[in-house]
Amino acid sequence: MKDIGKKGMMTRIIHAGQHADPATGAVSTPIYQTSTFAFRDADHGAACFRGEPGYKYTRLGNPTTEALEHNIAELEHGCGALAAASGMAAVNMVYLAFLGQGTHIVATDALYGPSRMILESEYVRFGVASTFVDSSDPKNVAAAMRPDTKLVYLETPANPTLKLTDLEACAEIAHKGGALVVVDNTFASPYLQNPLLQGADIVLHSMTKFINGHTDVVAGIVVAKDPEIYARLRKVHFNFGGTMDPHQAWLVLRGVKTLGLRMDRAQDNAMKLGAYLEKHPKVAWVRYPGLESHPQYALGKRQMRGGGAVLSFGVKGGLEAGKTVINNVEIATLAVSLGGVETLIEHPASMTHTGVPIADRLAAGISDDLVRLAVGCESYEDLEADLARVLEMI
Ligand SMILES: *Cc1c(COP(=O)(O)O)cnc(C)c1O
Repeated sequence: MKDIGKKGMMTRIIHAGQHADPATGAVSTPIYQTSTFAFRDADHGAACFRGEPGYKYTRLGNPTTEALEHNIAELEHGCGALAAASGMAAVNMVYLAFLGQGTHIVATDALYGPSRMILESEYVRFGVASTFVDSSDPKNVAAAMRPDTKLVYLETPANPTLKLTDLEACAEIAHKGGALVVVDNTFASPYLQNPLLQGADIVLHSMTKFINGHTDVVAGIVVAKDPEIYARLRKVHFNFGGTMDPHQAWLVLRGVKTLGLRMDRAQDNAMKLGAYLEKHPKVAWVRYPGLESHPQYALGKRQMRGGGAVLSFGVKGGLEAGKTVINNVEIATLAVSLGGVETLIEHPASMTHTGVPIADRLAAGISDDLVRLAVGCESYEDLEADLARVLEMI
Protein backbone atom coordinates (compact mmCIF):
# COMPACT_ATOMS: atom_id res chain seq x y z
CA MET A 1 0.00 0.00 0.00
CA LYS A 2 1.24 3.48 -0.81
CA ASP A 3 2.14 5.77 2.07
CA ILE A 4 -0.02 8.74 1.24
CA GLY A 5 -0.96 9.94 4.75
CA LYS A 6 0.59 13.38 4.26
CA LYS A 7 -0.48 13.90 0.65
CA GLY A 8 -3.20 16.23 -0.62
CA MET A 9 -6.87 15.45 -0.18
CA MET A 10 -7.56 14.50 -3.81
CA THR A 11 -4.52 12.18 -3.83
CA ARG A 12 -5.65 10.54 -0.62
CA ILE A 13 -9.20 10.02 -1.87
CA ILE A 14 -7.92 8.23 -4.98
CA HIS A 15 -5.02 6.23 -3.51
CA ALA A 16 -5.78 5.61 0.17
CA GLY A 17 -5.84 1.90 0.92
CA GLN A 18 -5.43 0.97 -2.74
CA HIS A 19 -2.80 -1.29 -4.30
CA ALA A 20 -2.48 -3.23 -7.52
CA ASP A 21 -3.98 -6.71 -7.17
CA PRO A 22 -1.20 -9.05 -5.95
CA ALA A 23 -2.38 -11.97 -8.10
CA THR A 24 -2.78 -10.18 -11.45
CA GLY A 25 -1.55 -6.59 -11.18
CA ALA A 26 -5.07 -5.30 -11.89
CA VAL A 27 -5.07 -1.57 -11.09
CA SER A 28 -8.78 -1.44 -10.26
CA THR A 29 -9.45 -3.66 -7.22
CA PRO A 30 -11.13 -6.81 -8.58
CA ILE A 31 -14.51 -7.95 -7.28
CA TYR A 32 -13.70 -11.01 -5.20
CA GLN A 33 -17.17 -12.46 -5.59
CA THR A 34 -16.77 -15.46 -3.35
CA SER A 35 -18.36 -16.51 -0.08
CA THR A 36 -15.43 -18.62 1.13
CA PHE A 37 -11.65 -19.02 0.71
CA ALA A 38 -9.64 -22.24 0.39
CA PHE A 39 -6.91 -23.00 2.95
CA ARG A 40 -3.61 -24.56 1.83
CA ASP A 41 -3.84 -27.15 4.62
CA ALA A 42 -5.16 -27.66 8.14
CA ASP A 43 -2.36 -25.62 9.74
CA HIS A 44 -3.07 -22.68 7.43
CA GLY A 45 -6.79 -22.85 8.30
CA ALA A 46 -5.98 -22.99 11.99
CA ALA A 47 -3.63 -19.98 11.69
CA CYS A 48 -6.30 -17.93 9.89
CA PHE A 49 -8.85 -18.71 12.58
CA ARG A 50 -6.31 -17.78 15.27
CA GLY A 51 -6.32 -14.30 13.75
CA GLU A 52 -3.22 -14.40 11.55
CA PRO A 53 -3.58 -12.61 8.19
CA GLY A 54 -5.63 -14.54 5.64
CA TYR A 55 -9.18 -14.67 4.34
CA LYS A 56 -11.60 -17.27 5.66
CA TYR A 57 -15.18 -16.39 4.81
CA THR A 58 -16.62 -13.20 3.24
CA ARG A 59 -18.72 -12.14 6.23
CA LEU A 60 -15.44 -12.09 8.21
CA GLY A 61 -13.43 -10.22 5.57
CA ASN A 62 -13.07 -9.93 1.79
CA PRO A 63 -10.31 -8.21 -0.24
CA THR A 64 -12.70 -5.94 -2.19
CA THR A 65 -14.55 -4.83 0.94
CA GLU A 66 -11.26 -4.32 2.76
CA ALA A 67 -9.96 -2.03 -0.01
CA LEU A 68 -12.97 0.20 0.62
CA GLU A 69 -12.59 0.00 4.42
CA HIS A 70 -8.91 0.97 4.20
CA ASN A 71 -9.79 3.90 1.96
CA ILE A 72 -12.47 5.39 4.22
CA ALA A 73 -10.50 4.68 7.43
CA GLU A 74 -7.63 6.70 5.96
CA LEU A 75 -9.87 9.56 4.79
CA GLU A 76 -11.42 9.82 8.25
CA HIS A 77 -8.08 9.46 10.10
CA GLY A 78 -9.28 6.33 11.92
CA CYS A 79 -7.45 3.11 12.82
CA GLY A 80 -9.92 0.90 10.95
CA ALA A 81 -13.32 0.80 9.28
CA LEU A 82 -16.14 -1.71 8.95
CA ALA A 83 -18.34 -1.60 5.85
CA ALA A 84 -22.02 -2.33 6.35
CA ALA A 85 -24.95 -3.33 4.17
CA SER A 86 -26.62 0.08 4.65
CA GLY A 87 -26.25 3.29 6.60
CA MET A 88 -28.76 1.92 9.11
CA ALA A 89 -26.68 -1.27 9.52
CA ALA A 90 -23.77 1.05 10.40
CA VAL A 91 -25.87 3.01 12.91
CA ASN A 92 -27.07 -0.20 14.55
CA MET A 93 -23.55 -1.64 14.68
CA VAL A 94 -22.62 1.26 16.96
CA TYR A 95 -25.79 1.08 19.05
CA LEU A 96 -25.48 -2.69 19.50
CA ALA A 97 -21.81 -2.49 20.43
CA PHE A 98 -22.14 0.15 23.15
CA LEU A 99 -25.74 0.23 24.40
CA GLY A 100 -27.48 -2.33 26.59
CA GLN A 101 -29.67 -2.88 29.61
CA GLY A 102 -29.49 0.12 31.93
CA THR A 103 -27.56 2.40 29.57
CA HIS A 104 -28.44 5.81 28.18
CA ILE A 105 -27.70 7.72 24.96
CA VAL A 106 -27.81 11.47 24.35
CA ALA A 107 -28.47 12.35 20.71
CA THR A 108 -29.12 15.32 18.42
CA ASP A 109 -32.90 15.84 18.24
CA ALA A 110 -32.91 16.32 14.47
CA LEU A 111 -31.30 12.89 14.00
CA TYR A 112 -31.89 11.03 10.74
CA GLY A 113 -35.47 9.73 11.25
CA PRO A 114 -34.86 5.97 11.53
CA SER A 115 -31.74 6.48 13.72
CA ARG A 116 -34.00 8.16 16.27
CA MET A 117 -37.08 6.01 15.75
CA ILE A 118 -35.27 2.73 16.36
CA LEU A 119 -34.02 3.98 19.74
CA GLU A 120 -37.51 5.05 20.75
CA SER A 121 -39.36 1.98 19.52
CA GLU A 122 -36.89 -0.94 19.65
CA TYR A 123 -33.87 -0.30 21.90
CA VAL A 124 -36.25 0.80 24.64
CA ARG A 125 -37.44 -2.85 24.70
CA PHE A 126 -33.92 -3.82 25.77
CA GLY A 127 -33.71 -1.24 28.55
CA VAL A 128 -31.89 1.52 26.68
CA ALA A 129 -32.94 5.08 27.57
CA SER A 130 -32.47 7.99 25.18
CA THR A 131 -32.58 11.77 25.45
CA PHE A 132 -32.78 13.97 22.35
CA VAL A 133 -31.49 17.52 22.56
CA ASP A 134 -30.77 20.46 20.30
CA SER A 135 -27.02 19.78 20.25
CA SER A 136 -26.32 23.05 18.41
CA ASP A 137 -26.04 24.43 21.96
CA PRO A 138 -23.51 22.24 23.87
CA LYS A 139 -25.16 23.25 27.15
CA ASN A 140 -28.14 21.09 26.19
CA VAL A 141 -25.82 18.10 25.80
CA ALA A 142 -24.22 18.79 29.18
CA ALA A 143 -27.64 19.02 30.85
CA ALA A 144 -28.74 15.67 29.40
CA MET A 145 -25.69 13.68 30.60
CA ARG A 146 -26.38 10.99 33.22
CA PRO A 147 -24.09 8.59 35.10
CA ASP A 148 -25.27 5.76 32.80
CA THR A 149 -24.72 7.72 29.54
CA LYS A 150 -22.56 5.57 27.26
CA LEU A 151 -22.91 7.38 23.93
CA VAL A 152 -23.26 10.95 22.74
CA TYR A 153 -24.49 10.67 19.18
CA LEU A 154 -24.28 13.77 16.98
CA GLU A 155 -25.30 14.76 13.50
CA THR A 156 -23.81 17.94 12.02
CA PRO A 157 -24.94 19.58 9.78
CA ALA A 158 -28.37 18.39 10.90
CA ASN A 159 -31.08 17.47 8.45
CA PRO A 160 -32.94 19.46 7.12
CA THR A 161 -32.37 22.43 9.44
CA LEU A 162 -28.62 22.54 8.69
CA LYS A 163 -27.90 23.48 12.30
CA LEU A 164 -24.30 22.79 13.29
CA THR A 165 -23.01 21.11 16.45
CA ASP A 166 -19.68 22.15 17.96
CA LEU A 167 -17.86 18.80 17.96
CA GLU A 168 -14.93 19.80 20.18
CA ALA A 169 -17.19 21.29 22.84
CA CYS A 170 -19.54 18.29 22.87
CA ALA A 171 -16.66 15.79 22.89
CA GLU A 172 -15.22 17.45 25.97
CA ILE A 173 -18.59 17.22 27.75
CA ALA A 174 -19.10 13.58 26.72
CA HIS A 175 -15.62 12.46 27.72
CA LYS A 176 -15.87 14.17 31.08
CA GLY A 177 -19.00 12.08 31.65
CA GLY A 178 -17.30 8.86 30.52
CA ALA A 179 -19.25 8.53 27.25
CA LEU A 180 -18.02 7.86 23.73
CA VAL A 181 -18.74 10.37 20.97
CA VAL A 182 -20.24 9.15 17.70
CA VAL A 183 -20.77 11.42 14.71
CA ASP A 184 -22.93 10.64 11.69
CA ASN A 185 -20.81 12.47 9.09
CA THR A 186 -23.02 11.64 6.09
CA PHE A 187 -23.98 15.25 5.30
CA ALA A 188 -20.46 16.67 5.21
CA SER A 189 -18.57 13.59 3.90
CA PRO A 190 -14.91 13.02 4.83
CA TYR A 191 -13.98 15.58 2.19
CA LEU A 192 -15.36 18.44 4.27
CA GLN A 193 -15.26 17.31 7.90
CA ASN A 194 -13.24 14.82 9.98
CA PRO A 195 -14.89 14.38 13.39
CA LEU A 196 -12.15 12.02 14.66
CA LEU A 197 -9.76 14.99 14.53
CA GLN A 198 -12.22 17.01 16.60
CA GLY A 199 -12.62 14.69 19.54
CA ALA A 200 -15.05 12.04 18.26
CA ASP A 201 -14.32 8.35 18.93
CA ILE A 202 -16.43 6.88 16.13
CA VAL A 203 -17.60 8.31 12.82
CA LEU A 204 -20.17 6.70 10.55
CA HIS A 205 -21.60 7.30 7.10
CA SER A 206 -24.51 6.35 4.97
CA MET A 207 -22.30 5.81 1.90
CA THR A 208 -25.55 5.79 -0.08
CA LYS A 209 -25.07 9.57 -0.16
CA PHE A 210 -21.92 11.56 -1.01
CA ILE A 211 -19.30 8.80 -0.72
CA ASN A 212 -20.84 6.61 -3.40
CA GLY A 213 -22.45 9.62 -5.03
CA HIS A 214 -24.26 8.02 -7.95
CA THR A 215 -27.69 7.23 -6.47
CA ASP A 216 -27.25 3.55 -7.29
CA VAL A 217 -26.10 1.84 -4.08
CA VAL A 218 -27.28 1.64 -0.47
CA ALA A 219 -24.30 1.19 1.88
CA GLY A 220 -22.80 2.25 5.20
CA ILE A 221 -19.53 2.32 7.11
CA VAL A 222 -18.22 2.86 10.65
CA VAL A 223 -14.72 4.19 11.38
CA ALA A 224 -13.07 3.81 14.79
CA LYS A 225 -10.43 6.06 16.27
CA ASP A 226 -8.62 3.40 18.29
CA PRO A 227 -8.04 -0.37 18.10
CA GLU A 228 -10.05 -1.19 21.21
CA ILE A 229 -13.20 0.45 19.85
CA TYR A 230 -12.56 -1.11 16.44
CA ALA A 231 -12.25 -4.61 17.96
CA ARG A 232 -15.52 -4.21 19.87
CA LEU A 233 -17.38 -2.99 16.75
CA ARG A 234 -15.90 -5.74 14.61
CA LYS A 235 -17.00 -8.51 16.96
CA VAL A 236 -20.57 -7.20 17.03
CA HIS A 237 -20.68 -6.55 13.29
CA PHE A 238 -19.42 -9.96 12.17
CA ASN A 239 -21.88 -11.77 14.40
CA PHE A 240 -24.95 -9.63 13.70
CA GLY A 241 -24.11 -10.05 10.05
CA GLY A 242 -25.03 -6.71 8.46
CA THR A 243 -21.83 -6.88 6.43
CA MET A 244 -21.22 -5.64 2.92
CA ASP A 245 -21.27 -7.66 -0.28
CA PRO A 246 -18.06 -7.47 -2.38
CA HIS A 247 -19.93 -6.26 -5.46
CA GLN A 248 -21.54 -3.48 -3.42
CA ALA A 249 -18.08 -2.60 -2.05
CA TRP A 250 -16.64 -2.38 -5.54
CA LEU A 251 -19.38 0.01 -6.69
CA VAL A 252 -18.77 2.31 -3.70
CA LEU A 253 -15.00 2.11 -4.26
CA ARG A 254 -15.60 3.23 -7.82
CA GLY A 255 -17.81 6.08 -6.60
CA VAL A 256 -15.51 7.40 -3.88
CA LYS A 257 -12.63 8.07 -6.30
CA THR A 258 -14.49 11.15 -7.57
CA LEU A 259 -15.73 12.33 -4.16
CA GLY A 260 -13.55 15.45 -4.24
CA LEU A 261 -14.48 16.39 -7.79
CA ARG A 262 -18.19 15.86 -7.19
CA MET A 263 -18.18 17.65 -3.86
CA ASP A 264 -16.32 20.70 -5.23
CA ARG A 265 -18.75 20.94 -8.09
CA ALA A 266 -21.94 20.40 -6.07
CA GLN A 267 -20.76 22.76 -3.33
CA ASP A 268 -20.00 25.46 -5.88
CA ASN A 269 -23.53 25.06 -7.26
CA ALA A 270 -25.01 25.13 -3.74
CA MET A 271 -23.12 28.29 -2.82
CA LYS A 272 -24.30 30.08 -5.96
CA LEU A 273 -27.89 28.87 -5.56
CA GLY A 274 -27.89 29.95 -1.91
CA ALA A 275 -26.72 33.45 -2.84
CA TYR A 276 -29.29 33.59 -5.65
CA LEU A 277 -32.19 32.42 -3.47
CA GLU A 278 -31.26 34.81 -0.67
CA LYS A 279 -31.96 37.75 -2.98
CA HIS A 280 -35.14 36.28 -4.49
CA PRO A 281 -38.35 38.16 -3.57
CA LYS A 282 -40.36 34.91 -3.24
CA VAL A 283 -37.87 33.38 -0.80
CA ALA A 284 -38.33 34.13 2.92
CA TRP A 285 -35.01 32.72 4.18
CA VAL A 286 -32.07 30.51 3.16
CA ARG A 287 -30.08 28.21 5.46
CA TYR A 288 -26.69 27.10 4.14
CA PRO A 289 -23.52 26.73 6.25
CA GLY A 290 -21.41 28.35 3.51
CA LEU A 291 -23.36 31.64 3.62
CA GLU A 292 -22.52 34.36 6.13
CA SER A 293 -26.22 34.56 6.98
CA HIS A 294 -25.98 31.12 8.66
CA PRO A 295 -26.19 31.75 12.43
CA GLN A 296 -23.22 29.42 13.01
CA TYR A 297 -21.13 30.52 10.03
CA ALA A 298 -18.02 30.94 12.21
CA LEU A 299 -18.34 27.43 13.66
CA GLY A 300 -18.75 26.03 10.13
CA LYS A 301 -15.56 27.79 9.07
CA ARG A 302 -13.74 26.27 12.03
CA GLN A 303 -14.83 22.65 11.77
CA MET A 304 -15.69 22.17 8.10
CA ARG A 305 -13.74 22.73 4.88
CA GLY A 306 -16.82 24.06 3.07
CA GLY A 307 -20.56 24.48 3.41
CA GLY A 308 -21.46 21.22 1.67
CA ALA A 309 -24.08 20.61 -0.97
CA VAL A 310 -27.37 20.63 0.93
CA LEU A 311 -29.34 23.79 1.58
CA SER A 312 -32.82 24.57 2.76
CA PHE A 313 -34.94 27.61 2.08
CA GLY A 314 -38.37 28.95 2.94
CA VAL A 315 -40.82 29.92 0.22
CA LYS A 316 -43.22 32.77 0.85
CA GLY A 317 -46.70 31.27 0.93
CA GLY A 318 -45.94 28.29 3.21
CA LEU A 319 -47.16 24.76 2.62
CA GLU A 320 -48.98 25.35 -0.68
CA ALA A 321 -46.10 27.36 -2.13
CA GLY A 322 -43.69 24.59 -1.11
CA LYS A 323 -45.83 22.04 -2.95
CA THR A 324 -45.97 24.25 -6.04
CA VAL A 325 -42.18 24.37 -6.13
CA ILE A 326 -41.59 20.66 -5.82
CA ASN A 327 -44.43 19.74 -8.20
CA ASN A 328 -43.09 21.89 -11.02
CA VAL A 329 -39.30 21.60 -11.05
CA GLU A 330 -37.84 19.87 -14.09
CA ILE A 331 -34.09 19.51 -13.53
CA ALA A 332 -34.30 18.90 -9.79
CA THR A 333 -35.91 15.53 -9.10
CA LEU A 334 -38.60 15.09 -6.48
CA ALA A 335 -37.02 12.42 -4.27
CA VAL A 336 -35.60 11.84 -0.80
CA SER A 337 -31.89 11.12 -0.34
CA LEU A 338 -28.97 13.37 -1.22
CA GLY A 339 -25.35 13.30 -2.24
CA GLY A 340 -25.81 12.09 -5.81
CA VAL A 341 -24.68 13.83 -8.99
CA GLU A 342 -28.29 14.77 -9.72
CA THR A 343 -30.07 17.52 -7.80
CA LEU A 344 -32.90 16.27 -5.58
CA ILE A 345 -35.61 18.38 -3.98
CA GLU A 346 -38.05 17.63 -1.21
CA HIS A 347 -40.62 19.39 0.96
CA PRO A 348 -40.65 17.74 4.41
CA ALA A 349 -43.98 19.28 5.56
CA SER A 350 -45.90 17.70 2.67
CA MET A 351 -43.72 14.59 2.14
CA THR A 352 -41.32 12.93 4.60
CA HIS A 353 -42.74 14.50 7.78
CA THR A 354 -46.51 14.19 7.17
CA GLY A 355 -46.61 11.47 9.87
CA VAL A 356 -44.90 13.66 12.48
CA PRO A 357 -47.26 15.66 14.77
CA ILE A 358 -47.22 19.29 13.56
CA ALA A 359 -46.09 20.66 16.95
CA ASP A 360 -43.14 18.22 17.02
CA ARG A 361 -42.20 19.07 13.45
CA LEU A 362 -42.25 22.81 14.16
CA ALA A 363 -40.31 22.32 17.40
CA ALA A 364 -37.63 20.53 15.39
CA GLY A 365 -37.33 23.62 13.15
CA ILE A 366 -39.09 22.07 10.14
CA SER A 367 -41.50 24.81 9.13
CA ASP A 368 -44.33 24.49 6.56
CA ASP A 369 -42.38 26.54 4.02
CA LEU A 370 -39.08 24.60 4.25
CA VAL A 371 -37.83 23.15 0.97
CA ARG A 372 -34.65 21.05 1.02
CA LEU A 373 -32.38 21.07 -1.96
CA ALA A 374 -29.68 18.39 -2.25
CA VAL A 375 -27.59 20.07 -4.91
CA GLY A 376 -25.94 17.98 -7.63
CA CYS A 377 -23.33 18.54 -10.32
CA GLU A 378 -25.44 19.87 -13.21
CA SER A 379 -24.65 23.09 -15.11
CA TYR A 380 -25.37 25.92 -12.68
CA GLU A 381 -27.39 28.00 -15.16
CA ASP A 382 -29.90 25.19 -15.59
CA LEU A 383 -30.45 24.76 -11.86
CA GLU A 384 -30.97 28.49 -11.37
CA ALA A 385 -33.35 28.74 -14.35
CA ASP A 386 -35.35 25.75 -13.07
CA LEU A 387 -35.88 27.38 -9.66
CA ALA A 388 -36.48 30.84 -11.16
CA ARG A 389 -39.29 29.43 -13.27
CA VAL A 390 -41.07 27.61 -10.43
CA LEU A 391 -40.67 30.51 -7.99
CA GLU A 392 -42.55 32.69 -10.49
CA MET A 393 -45.49 30.26 -10.16
CA ILE A 394 -46.12 30.92 -6.47
C1 LIG B 1 -29.52 8.16 4.58
C2 LIG B 1 -28.99 8.41 5.92
C3 LIG B 1 -28.83 7.35 6.86
C4 LIG B 1 -29.27 5.93 6.59
O1 LIG B 1 -28.57 5.37 5.55
P1 LIG B 1 -29.12 4.19 4.58
O2 LIG B 1 -27.97 3.98 3.69
O3 LIG B 1 -30.35 4.72 3.92
O4 LIG B 1 -29.44 3.02 5.46
C5 LIG B 1 -28.26 7.67 8.08
N1 LIG B 1 -27.89 8.93 8.39
C6 LIG B 1 -28.05 9.95 7.53
C7 LIG B 1 -27.63 11.33 7.93
C8 LIG B 1 -28.60 9.73 6.26
O5 LIG B 1 -28.75 10.76 5.42
